[in-house]
Amino acid sequence: MVCKNCIEKPVINLINNNVKLCKSCYIKYFESKVKKTITEYKLIEKNDHIVVACSGGKDSTTLLYLLKKITKNRKDIKITALAIDEGIHDYRDKSLEFLKNFCKENEIELKIFSYKEEFGKALDEILKTYKGIPCSICGVMRRYLLNKKSKELGATKLATGHNMDDEAQSIVMNLFKSNMKLSARMGPTTGIKIHEKFIPRIKPLYLLTEKEVTSYAFIKGFMDKLNECPHMQDSFRNYVRDTVNEFESKYPGTKHSIVNSFIELLPALKSYYGSLPATLQLCERCSEPSSKKVCQTCQYIDKVIKK
Ligand code: SF4
Ligand code: ZN
Repeated sequence: MVCKNCIEKPVINLINNNVKLCKSCYIKYFESKVKKTITEYKLIEKNDHIVVACSGGKDSTTLLYLLKKITKNRKDIKITALAIDEGIHDYRDKSLEFLKNFCKENEIELKIFSYKEEFGKALDEILKTYKGIPCSICGVMRRYLLNKKSKELGATKLATGHNMDDEAQSIVMNLFKSNMKLSARMGPTTGIKIHEKFIPRIKPLYLLTEKEVTSYAFIKGFMDKLNECPHMQDSFRNYVRDTVNEFESKYPGTKHSIVNSFIELLPALKSYYGSLPATLQLCERCSEPSSKKVCQTCQYIDKVIKK
């Protein structure tokens, strides 16, 4: 058995089209797919300052490496890594150590902001009194800081490491929960041209599956250790993830079909629902964008963090 494109030993089988590739042909395949996504959806424009949301995990490290590589001859493009330290002992401290070394080796500027400094308490501390689902509060605070800090850094785009699996799960979740309004705000790029306080998001790994990103990260040595957040709990997303994976293994190509159908429908969804919450305003406390008078983060600060 040899690689489809040369005579080397294959290392990966791309299930969807049943193609076997060797290491170097796989790297070429992966990188050209990311470049194609960037070109097709116009993710990078002249004079962009792209801030990459990094966690030290495989997806965002792959994304950071590739954006740096793809733009290395573009003097007008700036790439900055932005990490949020939630304050999760034995997890985030380790992944941030990996990220710091990675950025140093690859000469990438890295900015880290923590919950402790920005909100007064680390997540581990917050969870001593907060009895809700950890990801609910953590996700809101994380998205808040990513938008606020990338804006302060002068970003024109915020790049995230979302892959095809993440998107397929979100599409199915929104469908199952009758939340199509939320789907209207998804896609390979979001927030373009909508509000000066929102930094547009781009997802250059959008058309690559989790397995493909993991294989690339593994080949490139970006997988430090398989490190999982201890607060991750059984959630609706986990259940949807297992279901979509089960379908994929029985009917290869399911994830591509979900995302491709969604992309076809997206223009209609956007024109029907709009790309922003109808009630978008600025939070009266922190002046960040919010769908209510006081944003969710400020509400958490009052009700949970200051308690
Ligand atoms: Fe926060 Fe949940 Fe992610 Fe852990 S898994 S970092 S708690 S959002
Ligand atoms: Zn606020």
